[in-house]
Formats: sequence, C-alpha cells, structure tokens
Amino acid sequence: MPDRMWSLAEFRFDEAIEAAEVYLDRGTGLELMARDEAIAFARERGANLVAWWPPAGEAAPSVVAKVSLPLRWERVPVEEPTVDERLWFDAPCGRRDFLVGNGHTFVGRMAAWCPHEGVGYNVSRAEMGAMSEEARYFVAGFLAGNEPGYPADADGETDEADLAAWRAATARFRRTGSWYGRWGTCQVCGCVLLPDTADDRCHEHSTVG
Ligand SMILES: [Zn+2]
Ligand SMILES: [Zn+2]
Repeated sequence: MPDRMWSLAEFRFDEAIEAAEVYLDRGTGLELMARDEAIAFARERGANLVAWWPPAGEAAPSVVAKVSLPLRWERVPVEEPTVDERLWFDAPCGRRDFLVGNGHTFVGRMAAWCPHEGVGYNVSRAEMGAMSEEARYFVAGFLAGNEPGYPADADGETDEADLAAWRAATARFRRTGSWYGRWGTCQVCGCVLLPDTADDRCHEHSTVG
C-alpha cells in the first residue's frame, strides 16, 4: 500500500500510459494485451483507458473509464474540524491542551491544540503528562495504526532476528510514541540500537532506568 496519497500529476490515461502492455478485463477476466489495443477497445465504448495504479512491473493494470479534460479532482465539502474537550492532556504549556489528529510529520507525532496560546503543534506520547481516559485510548489506537511494518526483503522474507527486533521496537513505540528511524549503536557494547530510540546506549547499558 502507498504511504502517501497519489498526486493528480501521476494520473495516467490513454497514450500517457508508459507501459507497452497493459492488463485489462474485457469481461472475461484479466488479460495481458498491447496498450494500443486496449485504448482502441475503450474508444469503441466512448471511454478512455485509465492506469489503475502506477505499474510495478512492465505492464500496467488498467480499467476502461470516462476521463474529461482539464483533469480535476472530485470536489467534496470539507467541514472545519472541531476540538473535542474530552481529548485533554497535561501539556508542555503547563495546562490542559487537546489532541486533534495526526501530525503528519514523523511516525507517532500527533496534532494538538493549545487554547491558551491559540496555537496548533505536534506532540509525542512521551511529552504528554496525565490525560483523560478518552485521550489514552486515542493515543493507543493512533500509535497502533502508526507502527512501521516489519522488515522484509524483495521476496517478502523476514529474518528471525529482524522480526524479534521489530516486535521489541514497536512494543516500546507504543509506550513512548517515538520512532527515531535512523541507525545508531550503543557506545558501550557496540550493538545496533532498535530504530525507535534516539539514545546512544542500548537497553542493557542505559544509565536511565
Ligand atoms: Zn496550552
Ligand atoms: Zn550496550
């Protein structure tokens, strides 16, 4: 699955589909065929050939659909988000702020609103003090959904040691909400640190509890 929404600039149809061959279902299941043959099939139906998603290999999965120019996104009314005061927590400002959503910066960062200073900002679990029951479950669900996937090679195989490290890193992530995402090593024993921590010592050699 993509971790980012596609840009309209990546929408491909008809001759803009770069692949020479496409997969298309003409009513009898997916078939591999020349792109130009598929475009002709779509035109006969007064429609266009649309690349369903960016091709991963040589051939593009495609569908027959109507396209109008200039290209534009569907329009949907957007409601202003409201602050839910049940999602309070003791904040860095010294008072109660509110969780409002996803920070969209680093893994685990949540968007918060400080009504005292009238500012929105991003916060991690470890920076939050006491919080409401509702906020606690918001954070738990948010962090579960934000966990990075486990490591896998090109064939989808996962190394046993990688899997154990991933389990330990994501378990700690659910407590701290921090995911550093860079390589680091323990300055005492030289082991490779789990990717959630920005520390320079491993768990065994940590000076803090
Ligand atoms: Zn505040
Ligand atoms: Zn160590």
